[in-house]
Amino acid sequence: MRLIVATRNPAKGREMERLLAPLPGGVVVRSLADAPDYPEVVEDGDTFAANALIKARAAARHTGCWAIADDSGLEVAYLGGGPGVHSARYCGRHGDDAANNRLLLNNMAGVPESLRCARFVAAVAIAGPDGREAVSEGECGGQIAHAERGEGGFGYDSLFLRAELGKTMAELEPHEKDALSHRAKAFEEARGLLWRMMGVEIDPVR
Ligand code: IMP
Repeated sequence: MRLIVATRNPAKGREMERLLAPLPGGVVVRSLADAPDYPEVVEDGDTFAANALIKARAAARHTGCWAIADDSGLEVAYLGGGPGVHSARYCGRHGDDAANNRLLLNNMAGVPESLRCARFVAAVAIAGPDGREAVSEGECGGQIAHAERGEGGFGYDSLFLRAELGKTMAELEPHEKDALSHRAKAFEEARGLLWRMMGVEIDPVR
């Protein structure tokens, strides 16, 4: 049984595949790279959940398989919750992480520690070939750093500080990010929902 991980962001796709493990027997994960004629999907929802559903639904319809999609972003209280659903295109271009981070640092220049609170939010949507759908959400709190640090992760990870660890998300090992991330929290619920909806079971001895 095929499951499509509906993202074109390879770093996000790797995280999603890690968070789906262990896979039940008979489930094979495929990415959108395996569907070369996959059309551009317009993410015009007002919420992370709406956009995650748009992506999962489109992938399920196009492939005829089960699909799972993530829509996520950074909310900074001082910026009125921005960049929010516009996180991927904050600087005006989709997916330019370096320019997004530069703009965020500029917009937070001179802002004191006490006003640098932020959170990552993720909505994970599941869509089936039979039209069944589900969404789960997770979030992760932190602070916006004064300069980028670390090489891991993607997006705003190098500016997202976990004060208790004294590290940005980009300085964490993949398994450390997976222990606390917004995406991991959303997947905790999504994984169980997905296997139930697909009618597959995790082998308890594995
Ligand atoms: P999406 O692919 O449209 O959901 O865009 C998500 C955007 O939010 C990414 O391009 C990143 O800028 C940001 N983002 C979401 N999750 C993360 C994360 O785990 N780390 C860093 N940035 C993230």
